[in-house]
Amino acid sequence: MDLAHKRYEELERQILAAHPDADVGKIRAAFEYANEHHGPQLRKSGEPYIIHPIAVAEIINELDLDRDSIIAALLHDCIEDTDSTHDEIGRMFGNQVAELVEGVTKLTRMQYTSREDEQMENLRKMFMAMAKDVRVILIKLCDRLHNMRTLQYQSDAKQKEKALETMEVYAPIAHRLGMQKIKWELEDLALEYLDPVGFHDVHEELEKITTLHAGFLDNMQTHIEERLAEEGVQCKVYGRLKHIYSIYRKMYSQNKTLNEIFDLYAFRVIVEDIPACYNVLGCIHDMFKPVLGRFKDYIGTPKPNGYQSLHTTVVGRDGIPFEVQIRTWDMHQTAEYGVAAHWKYKQGMANQRLGTERDFEWVRKLLESQQDTDPDEFVRTLRVDMFADEVFVFTPNGDVKSLPAGATPIDFAYAIHSAVGNSMTGARVNGRIVTFETPLKSGDIVEIITSKSARGPSRDWMKICKSNEARNKIRQWFKKERREENIATGRAMFESELKHAGLSLGAITANSDLLDVLLKRVRCGQLDELYAAIGYGGLSAQKAAARIKEEMTRLGRLERQKAEQEAIQASISTGETVYPSSTYKNSILTPRKSNSGIIVAGLDNCMVKFSKCCTPVPGDPVVGFITKGYGVSIHRQDCPNADPARRKLEEEGRWVKVSWAENAVAEAGYRTSIEISAKDRDGLALDVAMALSAVKVKVNNLSARSQPDGYAMIYLELAVKDQKELTGVINKLSQISGVFLVKRAGG
Ligand code: MN
Repeated sequence: MDLAHKRYEELERQILAAHPDADVGKIRAAFEYANEHHGPQLRKSGEPYIIHPIAVAEIINELDLDRDSIIAALLHDCIEDTDSTHDEIGRMFGNQVAELVEGVTKLTRMQYTSREDEQMENLRKMFMAMAKDVRVILIKLCDRLHNMRTLQYQSDAKQKEKALETMEVYAPIAHRLGMQKIKWELEDLALEYLDPVGFHDVHEELEKITTLHAGFLDNMQTHIEERLAEEGVQCKVYGRLKHIYSIYRKMYSQNKTLNEIFDLYAFRVIVEDIPACYNVLGCIHDMFKPVLGRFKDYIGTPKPNGYQSLHTTVVGRDGIPFEVQIRTWDMHQTAEYGVAAHWKYKQGMANQRLGTERDFEWVRKLLESQQDTDPDEFVRTLRVDMFADEVFVFTPNGDVKSLPAGATPIDFAYAIHSAVGNSMTGARVNGRIVTFETPLKSGDIVEIITSKSARGPSRDWMKICKSNEARNKIRQWFKKERREENIATGRAMFESELKHAGLSLGAITANSDLLDVLLKRVRCGQLDELYAAIGYGGLSAQKAAARIKEEMTRLGRLERQKAEQEAIQASISTGETVYPSSTYKNSILTPRKSNSGIIVAGLDNCMVKFSKCCTPVPGDPVVGFITKGYGVSIHRQDCPNADPARRKLEEEGRWVKVSWAENAVAEAGYRTSIEISAKDRDGLALDVAMALSAVKVKVNNLSARSQPDGYAMIYLELAVKDQKELTGVINKLSQISGVFLVKRAGG
């Protein structure tokens, strides 16, 4: 018998040992198929290639996975390295097996050039996301484990590269899936290549200390076993040295010496049920002195990957600290196999007669016992499709980009850089030209074809892309690059929206009052800005049209009230009976002049008063407020009392647009107030009075107050023609020696 067959017979013997009734015919067929296809291929070690898939199948069998997984493990390199195909494997071994082999092949083809940490996390996520079936990941992990076990035959560069990948991608995935045993072995193997000096240091130190503690593990194990037997506890006790990488990490990252590490040694006590766990804990704490703060109850609060155990650290009589982990057999299975077991349960393997009911009974029990605590959390952490809302794709040089599910090459291009998106003319996925709508899949290698003469994004792209990032960047581009086009498009969109509402754009733009209110409400300075905003998508045409309608309703209501008021007045003087109008006429309101120098939009000769808080003068931007019974009160636009942000919602309709009439003149001038801050000195008030008389301004009041800290406040009330005159007065006052601030009161 040749080497390959010998090795295979051993595998079959192991399978039958675990499952005496296993049907191994198909497994044998898979071995023969792979053996034939790999043919004379050799590994770097000089062994026939087929030894590797057999070894991987052995590890899969140790995990107690189903028959399809073992078959897929035997075939796992066939698609990649031989002329075998997915279809052929499907025909011979079933679709399930073919899918598994295909999945492993995809993961094998993934490139993991070493990247920054965030990239590594994306790589790990992609790895999980790409494998729709968790068995694919398990086979890939076992494949990597065997490759790491035989890494000595590879070149130095290859060793470093594989070791780094193992440490950064594979070991964390094994951990996430709760597969401690594989994780530890991967970490130790990787460390040996990544830091040979550190690895051997720790190794040597450990040798020394264990020689010093000769017999410790054995003695202690016997000691614990005897005590627990006395207590009548059914259990199994295992003692072991912690794996090298965990010690290495504590020594190097936490800067500890070997003597400072409490859990160099660990014992596991595996019992029948949960009460026994706590019973054993009590015995252990009775036998040895517990180290304070080291007890952890992962039975009450399992780790996210499903791990359960009681952990405690104690010190023996010889002063050597050690850790004790106490768990049931069920928990032990989860700790060792992790997600592998859960998967068997989830896929209902029992029904497919691919394993025996007994094999996953414990998983079911575990799941059921979890129901009381937080079943969602438990299942969620074990799900393989945990990244279903994300896809992970590669750039041509191997960086990973995370995009929302359904993302297209457009999203990808903008995730690289807006300049890439804006000059995109085409896209390739896995070397093939694709359309921009093509949804990307995890593991795709995406390449964007750009051109300097690209015309830029199209508006349709905003509908095609899935990420907000891309959408915003496209919008930005339209905002910046295509102002003329935006204005034209925006105008057309706005017009059509208005038409829809039965309004005409022409009538609205001719109505300056309406327009001004609208522009203010959408925070645009000019009509073009409004069009442009609609054009690039910053403002929706529907929203702008809705604003117009609201405003027209409001103005219409005001006008109707006024018309009714006038009609009633008229009827009183003529004796006619007039009924309030019930129809709303959409007339264009024209401003009319009043003798206060203020024009109130739409209101003729209404009573106007100037507010005392900000004392506006002609030239100040102003706004009016319709008071109850005192006409319209005029504020400066920068008056805090007129601040749109502070206006009460229910009073919004009472704020009206007002403006100064051309040549607004009030006979007595406009009263306004000024505050002067100055360093106090003799004759300050006199100088102020002199300055005021020099500019021939009428002063109604002047009061000066000295402050205790040597400063003075002067308050002035004057009457001026307009803002220009007032500015002149302020300038004059500012020149007075000691004055450091002259400002209008209020506002
Ligand atoms: Mn392989």
